Amino acid sequence: MGTNLKIAVQKSGRLSEKSLKIIADCGIKFGSDARLLREEAENFPLEFLYLRDDDIPRYINDGVADIGIVGRNEFDEQNLPLEVIRDLGFAKCRLSVAVPVKFDYQGLTSLEGKRIATSYPGILKRKLAEAGVNASIFEISGSVEITPSIGVADAICDLVSTGATLVSNGLKEVEQIYTSSAVLIGRKGLDSEKQILLERLLLRIDSVQKAKDYKYIMFNLPKAHLKEVAAIMGGITSPTVTELYDPAWCAVQTVISEERFWDALEQLKELGAQGILVTAIEKLAD
Ligand code: ATP
Ligand code: ZN
Repeated sequence: MGTNLKIAVQKSGRLSEKSLKIIADCGIKFGSDARLLREEAENFPLEFLYLRDDDIPRYINDGVADIGIVGRNEFDEQNLPLEVIRDLGFAKCRLSVAVPVKFDYQGLTSLEGKRIATSYPGILKRKLAEAGVNASIFEISGSVEITPSIGVADAICDLVSTGATLVSNGLKEVEQIYTSSAVLIGRKGLDSEKQILLERLLLRIDSVQKAKDYKYIMFNLPKAHLKEVAAIMGGITSPTVTELYDPAWCAVQTVISEERFWDALEQLKELGAQGILVTAIEKLAD
């Protein structure tokens, strides 16, 4: 049996489903039966370890896993000598300071001498040190948002996405200290066999991720406007143009970035494009 690359994925939580989806979109087949602790992919030398997200950086550092997917917040909190290989862009959230609604907050200096409850003491300590603020940090692993109402903290520092939980606990978000999304992390200096497997996996992940940023677009166009249209589209390569039966018209096919798409669509319509057909791209490799 050859070498497997071992990837650690959150067993069950906010990261699990999307982490596995990225791997599945790479054409890698596995059971994704997260009741198992580990399983091997069927058609790629990849082995999954399903773990609590907090344990993932340490397992990678200890060599039990080679790579893994965690929130950037967890990676930075643990401060281990690992590297971020790719930002995967999902599970976006922020780490914010929140205080009771009646607290007169004027900036981080308002936290001087206060008690702050958080699950991210490392990131918070660094932020307070930068601002020259001394506060006592109360580390707690969950239900951070209830600590002010039970009198054990004056403020909290917690992950927020919509803020609804804060409001229902009589808190207001006053300071965003960190923004996070899911990242693929790994140990530095993998042996060469594993490094080759990682590069094969990254080629796939990159094509899947890049495809999400582009659309494939096809339309018919009066030939007279072809030059202007080519200038607008600026695809990955120049557009493919085919003759139509009507000699005054042609068909154009190209790839366009999602971000330029709506502007380009308006311009195309002004130039007389018809039958504009747009499709998602599954994979896109350079
Ligand atoms: P585990 O049981 O594995 O320890 P957990 O409860 O610590 O799970 P989750 O709540 O599943 O972790 O969150 C995992 C990661 O998802 C967080 O570290 C963060 O990066 C991200 N995350 C947390 N809260 C949110 C949110 N409200 N919106 C989006 N992403 C979030
Ligand atoms: Zn956790």
